[in-house]
Amino acid sequence: MYELTIRTSFAAAHSLRDYNGPCARLHGHTWQVEVVLNGRQLDGYSMLVDFRELKKKTKRIIEELDHQNLNTLEPFAHSGGGNPTAENLSKYLFERLKSEFSGLQREIKIALVRVCESPEACAAYWEED
Ligand SMILES: [Zn+2]
Repeated sequence: MYELTIRTSFAAAHSLRDYNGPCARLHGHTWQVEVVLNGRQLDGYSMLVDFRELKKKTKRIIEELDHQNLNTLEPFAHSGGGNPTAENLSKYLFERLKSEFSGLQREIKIALVRVCESPEACAAYWEED
């Protein structure tokens, strides 16, 4: 198996609904994002996925979140969608990236998406086989 990781970041505000603590107030983070892919087969360039391609796809999704109040965006706008926590952001990014890579002939799996709201506080989402 091969594994590949890219890291990127975006800045966005959020607040936690129905939460008893300072995070209920609107505040911002520079969210660090890590995307991990894996697969068995390399392409003709001996790459699992071109880093440029993975970065481009990730950037496109992240641009929708960058410099936004996450609570106002569709996936997190209603209480049913859950709070825009690091956990929910990692799941959201995982699912968006999974669909981006679903059409390839080679089997490439999004192994994990990790989102950190600070260097000391990270959450990750992945799917079990
Ligand atoms: Zn926060």
